[in-house]
Amino acid sequence: MIKKKVCLIGGFAVGKTSLVQRYVSGLFSDDYLTTVGVKIDQRSETLADKEVRMMIWDLAGRDQFANVTKSYLRGADGFLFVADGTRRETLTAITEELAEVRPDFPHTPSLLLLNKCDLNPDWEVSQQDLQPFQAQGMNILRTSAKTGENVENAFRSLASSMTRLPAS
Ligand code: GDP
Ligand code: MG
Repeated sequence: MIKKKVCLIGGFAVGKTSLVQRYVSGLFSDDYLTTVGVKIDQRSETLADKEVRMMIWDLAGRDQFANVTKSYLRGADGFLFVADGTRRETLTAITEELAEVRPDFPHTPSLLLLNKCDLNPDWEVSQQDLQPFQAQGMNILRTSAKTGENVENAFRSLASSMTRLPAS
């Protein structure tokens, strides 16, 4: 069994906790889930007959990132940066978070998730907004914790990048 630490990073109410909940338990709730401190969930993927167990770290609350960054990120094997596709400013925030995280984790696999893709009419993020991230070679997926779209894909794809095992 291979164990990997995955950290979710992203602004207030972008859907980090909902994505983890959807992935780990297959559930979605419209209620706002207030998370306190750090929550660690786990789920395994089987890649090339090997079990990859992901310990998924989800940071709670608003604006706490700066205070806990170091201990939260320590030993991370992969990152899911999450923005809310209906709020462009949450993508801008990722730029800052990347700048904070990257120096300590230059080669750590990461994915950028544009969450809430079920809310099509409210979508604010354009192709052009994504160019800076694509230029850095970041892989990007549109997800919905509500419908489940691309949620398993995202975690499985990150598991594959972290282990260099094929996803299919
Ligand atoms: P967090 O602060 O990043 O952990 O965000 P939460 O997971 O608590 O979600 C914030 C709010 O967005 C909640 O009301 C969720 O129900 C809602 N939400 C999360 N993901 C989605 C999604 O994919 N689609 C829709 N429509 N709402 C979502
Ligand atoms: Mg949360």
